[in-house]
Amino acid sequence: MPHADGVFDYVIAGGGTAGCVLADRLTADGRTRVLLLEAGGSDRNPLIHLPIGFAKLTSGPYDWGLRTVPQKACNDRVIPLAQGKVIGGGGSINAMVFTRGTPDDYDGWATDFGCAGWSFAEIQKYFIRSEDNDRLSAPWHGNGGPLGISDIPDPHPLSRAFVRAAQQFGLPYNGDFNGPSQYGTGIYQTTTKNGRRCSAAIGYLRPAMKRPNLVVRLNAAVSRVVLDGRRAVAVEAIEGVEVRLYRADREVILSGGALASPKILQLSGIGDPVDLAGVGVDVRHGLPGVGKNLHDHCDLDVIYELKQYQSMDRLARVRPATVSAALEYALFRNGPLASTLVEGGAFSFGDKEAKTPDLQFHFLPAAGVEAGIQAGRTGYGCTLNSYFLRPRSRGTVRIASADPTAAPLVDPNFIADPYDLEMSAEGLRQSREIMAQPAMARYIKKEHLAGGGQLRTKDEYLAFARAYGRTAYHPVGTCAMGVSDASVVSPDLRVHGLDALRVVDASVMPRLTSSNTQAATVMIAEKASDMILGIGA
Ligand SMILES: Cc1cc2nc3c(=O)[nH]c(=O)nc-3n(C[C@H](O)[C@H](O)[C@H](O)COP(=O)(O)OP(=O)(O)OC[C@H]3O[C@@H](n4cnc5c(N)ncnc54)[C@H](O)[C@@H]3O)c2cc1C
Repeated sequence: MPHADGVFDYVIAGGGTAGCVLADRLTADGRTRVLLLEAGGSDRNPLIHLPIGFAKLTSGPYDWGLRTVPQKACNDRVIPLAQGKVIGGGGSINAMVFTRGTPDDYDGWATDFGCAGWSFAEIQKYFIRSEDNDRLSAPWHGNGGPLGISDIPDPHPLSRAFVRAAQQFGLPYNGDFNGPSQYGTGIYQTTTKNGRRCSAAIGYLRPAMKRPNLVVRLNAAVSRVVLDGRRAVAVEAIEGVEVRLYRADREVILSGGALASPKILQLSGIGDPVDLAGVGVDVRHGLPGVGKNLHDHCDLDVIYELKQYQSMDRLARVRPATVSAALEYALFRNGPLASTLVEGGAFSFGDKEAKTPDLQFHFLPAAGVEAGIQAGRTGYGCTLNSYFLRPRSRGTVRIASADPTAAPLVDPNFIADPYDLEMSAEGLRQSREIMAQPAMARYIKKEHLAGGGQLRTKDEYLAFARAYGRTAYHPVGTCAMGVSDASVVSPDLRVHGLDALRVVDASVMPRLTSSNTQAATVMIAEKASDMILGIGA
């Protein structure tokens, strides 16, 4: 091997949610030498830390700017796919909604995919160990862990009205979506602490940075894993105009997220021989599952114009409102700026036969918050979005060329399965029914459907889903854990057929959790750290 620019025990490619957890846990003994390589830069920008800053982060300098390939079931639309490009990854730009999914999700990984050790009874301790919950505690929650979890200090009156409306619709009130049942409606808890975002970069990595055995390199994009026979021995990283080589004496760990980890494997010649041949990459290790099984939640938004200009949109437009909110935040770390905007939540059933809720809703007391979502005519409003939690459609991530700087071809294959389409339409139908309840209707002037269309018939609902479905930012599954030929890593997250190479991030989920995905990714990295260190996981 040529001269290495550094020698470590573990080299982690990707400093996002999982990478930051690993960097902390693997260096805790003060001796193990760890290098964390992150393609993005620092998280110094205050907008990242201010909860309301989420509104500015779904596009721009901290997003990779990825797009899907034309989505067949969505009128061939090319859909933006925000993914974090900054230390902390998705955790530095996300909406901070804290949900973990249901025990059935993890039991299903164990029983349906042969992922021994991943049943809920076996992984629950990792959720608990990660958590520092400021309201809830045992047996479902943890206190004193690195990840701050808090209530939104003062939910907006519209969000509280949403929760009442959802009860009028028929959902029970639920004060803890991460307790015995997700079913019902309430205000989300968020990954925040003392009125600030608590990403894994803040909760885990920042305290670990003091350790001399941890090196973090920003703006370092891993382009490939170097193999010596069957063993991963190093990675190559592009840093500005230089290409550097970092040696890993024990293991290389890929934590680039569900869209980048399969890309790095493919660039290294590890993947489906057919895909690699198509782009002229020599096959070093044939593994057909790499980049397959991509799935994501497909989100549908409805915007409502309000009778008065009382929503959080005021903050962006009315100067005295902005000044008073800024003062309140500066003095008390409280008020509207301490809100993540995604406040109201609900889980319900689209398919009455489902064992656990299969629809999730997010209510925002503002309009046009996320990139690409229209704000309506006045620019003042509120938003309810919904998605089907257990999609059956599966897509792919494939490198477009052997050039590591080229974006991958990402095909989530949104709502291609007719069942997914039908359930998405049902989520939309329920959204409108919730918003029509008296508690909410009194505030609403007008529904604003993207494109100005009407929704009366089932066909119109299906057409709306095809025309406006978009990512919920939860891609998973592209380096799936399991024991079948379709899987990429074993239940201990080692790449099948190779030594000293693991994948640890959202890509290893064999199937999406019935929830947002950050907490599950933290749990995966927590368990992985025990497996890597040989601590009975
Ligand atoms: C806009 C948005 C909103 C979201 N909202 C929520 C929410 O409210 N609640 C929730 O639970 N989840 C949410 N998520 C999802 C959650 O953030 C992700 O599931 C989670 O961050 C995935 O963690 P990961 O470690 O797999 O990947 P990431 O956190 O994406 O980390 C991957 C890291 O690897 C880096 N990287 C990529 N390629 C390379 C390379 N070649 N070399 C070096 N580094 C590389 C990336 O820059 C990134 O920092 C949201 C995500 C986004 C993008």
